[in-house]
Amino acid sequence: MNILVLNCGSSSLKFQVIATDLEAIERDEDRMLARGVLERIGTEALITLRAEGRAPVRDAVPLRDHRAALDHVLHWLVSPDSGVPGISSLSDIHAVGHRIVHGGERLTRSLLIDDAAIEQIAECIELAPLHNPANLKGIQSARQVFGSGIPQAAVFDTSFHSTMPPESFLYALPYQLYVRHRVRRYGFHGTSHRYVAYRYRQLSGHDYEGTNIITLHLGNGCSACAIRKGASIDTSMGMTPAEGLVMGTRSGDLDPSVLEFLHHKEGMSFDELDSLINKRSGLLGVSGLTNDMRDLLAEEKEHEDRRARLAVELFCLRVRKYIGAYLARMNGADAVVFTGGIGGNTPHSRGPRAPRLGILGAQPDEERNRGLVGGREGEFGAEGSRIRLFVIPTNEELLIARDTLRCVLGVPRRW
Ligand code: ADP
Repeated sequence: MNILVLNCGSSSLKFQVIATDLEAIERDEDRMLARGVLERIGTEALITLRAEGRAPVRDAVPLRDHRAALDHVLHWLVSPDSGVPGISSLSDIHAVGHRIVHGGERLTRSLLIDDAAIEQIAECIELAPLHNPANLKGIQSARQVFGSGIPQAAVFDTSFHSTMPPESFLYALPYQLYVRHRVRRYGFHGTSHRYVAYRYRQLSGHDYEGTNIITLHLGNGCSACAIRKGASIDTSMGMTPAEGLVMGTRSGDLDPSVLEFLHHKEGMSFDELDSLINKRSGLLGVSGLTNDMRDLLAEEKEHEDRRARLAVELFCLRVRKYIGAYLARMNGADAVVFTGGIGGNTPHSRGPRAPRLGILGAQPDEERNRGLVGGREGEFGAEGSRIRLFVIPTNEELLIARDTLRCVLGVPRRW
């Protein structure tokens, strides 16, 4: 089955086409036929499209909205020039899988999309006002193009964390606020944490019950997850993705009274405060330069920029604190797994100066650590390290494709 995986952001659309079936899943032989990114939708969009085994094609095309972006992708996919194997007409796409950011408390499993599901996803808009509307645009666009002819599935970022117990997901606020408004921690990046836990099982030989690990998704957004017996029991993001680790532009954990203080001192409105903690803080806010870890490390090295260094230090210290907290939370873990653009590419964020994991019972081997960049997967713990250390590049699209297949076939998910 050829599955189109769509991940729609407010002004972006990322996609992959993945050929998979139950046998391919069993043998880990799913095949990515094409992928691409369309950014700055609404203006002159920047487009990168890539067929399997071919060089990427880059272009800039005015695209009005997500529907226009999807039309552009489909037109390319079916055109003979694109060279996408096995796709020559729309009928070669058999299902669509959508990444949906927020499923709230009720949408805890991947599901086939019908009118009721759309309504429920729309109900979660107040919990994810930036993300869910964009995700819904992706669903509506695909419905318009494909009609009811092909099934569509929704895979939620929050669902992996639905196994968290109340002592993890509740805030220490009056309980009625949870009852009345569902103010609680939901967690995000669930598909990524779930994928790396799955790969960890493949690499380590552990089974589901034996999966006791801490996973760290360190990208532009960052989150940590405590996984015990294969299930998420705690995660660092909260009701929204603003909580937890230091991120590209988000502050992560913050004394909530700072917001009221700034409201009085700087006359900032709620919207401005929201933008402050989500878009102007984190690596960008501390460094005053950029949210890009690559550039910060270069600034620090080449110009000894003090604030670039401070931003990196803050980032790494918060990672270390969460690892320590989760080791206590879980009564110890067998492994710590790093993923995401930063986790997968910066030995720095996993190494000696940064998390100083030795004291926690995890001793990195620096040479192995330095070698794990650019999408490489592997282990970098030193001989005798009590806790194993891994870099596992994430692959959320693959899980979305597999979940979509299972939803279509009505096969329950095994992991
Ligand atoms: P997103 O959360 O948007 O998916 P990514 O997972 O791609 O983001 O992570 C983006 C972050 O990863 C940026 O801070 C970027 O600088 C960092 N990054 C990507 N590649 C490298 C690299 N080779 N070295 C250091 N940092 C990198």
